[in-house]
Amino acid sequence: MRNYKITVGSRHASTVHKISHIKFKIMRLLFLSIISILLLNFCSAFQKQNPQILLVTGGHSFDTTEFFDFFMNLENYDIDTISQPVANEFLLTDEGQSYDAYIFYDMWKIIEEDHKKAYLDLTEKGKGLLFLHHSVVSYQNWDEFFNIIGGRYVAAETTTDTSRYSDYKHDLDLEIKILDTEHAVTNGLSNFTIHDEGYSNLELSANIHPLLGTDHPDCNSLLAWTNKYRNSDIVYLIFGHDKNAYVDEDFQKLIYNSLEWMGSRHASTIQLSK
Ligand SMILES: [Zn+2]
Repeated sequence: MRNYKITVGSRHASTVHKISHIKFKIMRLLFLSIISILLLNFCSAFQKQNPQILLVTGGHSFDTTEFFDFFMNLENYDIDTISQPVANEFLLTDEGQSYDAYIFYDMWKIIEEDHKKAYLDLTEKGKGLLFLHHSVVSYQNWDEFFNIIGGRYVAAETTTDTSRYSDYKHDLDLEIKILDTEHAVTNGLSNFTIHDEGYSNLELSANIHPLLGTDHPDCNSLLAWTNKYRNSDIVYLIFGHDKNAYVDEDFQKLIYNSLEWMGSRHASTIQLSK
């Protein structure tokens, strides 16, 4: 009898032990799963994401194949493109305001009041703004745009004062001098020559910081500058009329340097850590 009791007792103990063991396995599995999920989230939060760039075109013809060949293959940047007039509508949306930096290669005349606010909102948020070539011709009657980009191409319909008229000339061989060799936008560049269109007699803001110049008689002596408007770092580059510019290594370097300088990488990191 004593042995029997002992046998029953030991069977019972063995069953309890088995259940405890299964429970332990399940708990361990759950624990490991939770740790794995936490680790994955932790890693993805610190994973470097490419800065998101919105590239705006429209209002002027251009060599689209060579243009998009370069811009859509910018290393380390994710580029979305949009054309006017849809672009200004898009800037009204949360998604349109969410990019790290913006490249404007559009030439657009009309801007509604709510679109103006969308541009000002971008500067309030400190988005990097890179303006290229004929974007300096846009919105000539909106003075705040002049203050943002730091310059203005003055066309005949803007004023009757003929002394203010700007002008353009195609196919110039422009000898470019680096005016600020210490700046991040000119980093790695030496004086260079580029085949491009030139603008002359541009109206310039007193606040801009000169980067590049030329002595060419058919072109503005100042060709590229930086500007600060509200919280935004801004770059204007006169270059980019056609494929001769897009394939030019100095032009390409200026684009990369501008995006770097405008801090789009930094903005991207801030967004991720929210
Ligand atoms: Zn042009």
